[in-house]
Formats: sequence, structure tokens, C-alpha cells
Amino acid sequence: MHPIDPGLWARLARSSFRSRFRLDLQDQLYLASRTPHVIAEHAASFVATRIAPERPRQDGRQTPWRGHPVFVAQHATATCCRSCIAKWHALPKGRALTAPEQRYVVSVISAWLEQRRDDPRQHAEPDGRQFDLLDSPAPHEQS
Ligand SMILES: [Zn+2]
Repeated sequence: MHPIDPGLWARLARSSFRSRFRLDLQDQLYLASRTPHVIAEHAASFVATRIAPERPRQDGRQTPWRGHPVFVAQHATATCCRSCIAKWHALPKGRALTAPEQRYVVSVISAWLEQRRDDPRQHAEPDGRQFDLLDSPAPHEQS
């Protein structure tokens, strides 16, 4: 498996788009009630079905904005679609991701989530600012 580039987190932090993503309270509670292993299994399932195929369905729009902490983590880590993965993680689109590549993507998602487990600073901001993202056009082109 590819190791995670130590510079990845700093690069993501410099992206105003990527760094805006926060787990809301529901995501926090969901995360708190499941082990890291179970969360990683969910991530592996989403990655295998929505991201890994040679031509993912609705590529660029296949990752919802919310509804599961893994989805939030995917947007925050640029593992949301094949274009973002190609740009940020240097795994080319147009072919299926191999099993080790899928494990790499899952490891990035899991690392982001585990950094935020039980961290109250990561709860949704009371002004609802994060929901402005929902109206942003073509978010995948902004980063
Ligand atoms: Zn994307």
C-alpha cells in the first residue's frame, strides 16, 4: 500500500475548500458509537462501489455532502471522485483502482476521521456556515 504523503495534510489545510469540511454533531455521534475498524469497513465499501470502478457512476457527483462521516471525510481529503483523486493523490482515472490503491484511499479517509474522533472543536459551527457549501457550484473545480 502507498504510504500517506506526510505533506498531504498541510496541502489539504491550505485549500480553503477542503479545510472547510467539519463533522456535524450527528456525524460525531455516529463515529463515537462505532470502532475505527467498522468505520474503515464502511469507507472500504463506499470506495469499492462508488470510487474504484474504471468508470464510476456519476463520477464527480457520487459522494453526498452529508449523511455519513465517511462522505464528509472524502470531500475533506479529496477522495470524493476520480478527478480529485487523480489531482491530489496521483492515482489516474480511466482505470479501476487496484486493491492496494483502494486500501490507500481508505487509509486517508480513516486517518482524517480518527484525527477528529471525540474532538469537540470539530462539531458543526453554530452559524451553519458549512451548509453554504451545499449551494456552491462545481465544487470539484475549486480546489
Ligand atoms: Zn471530487
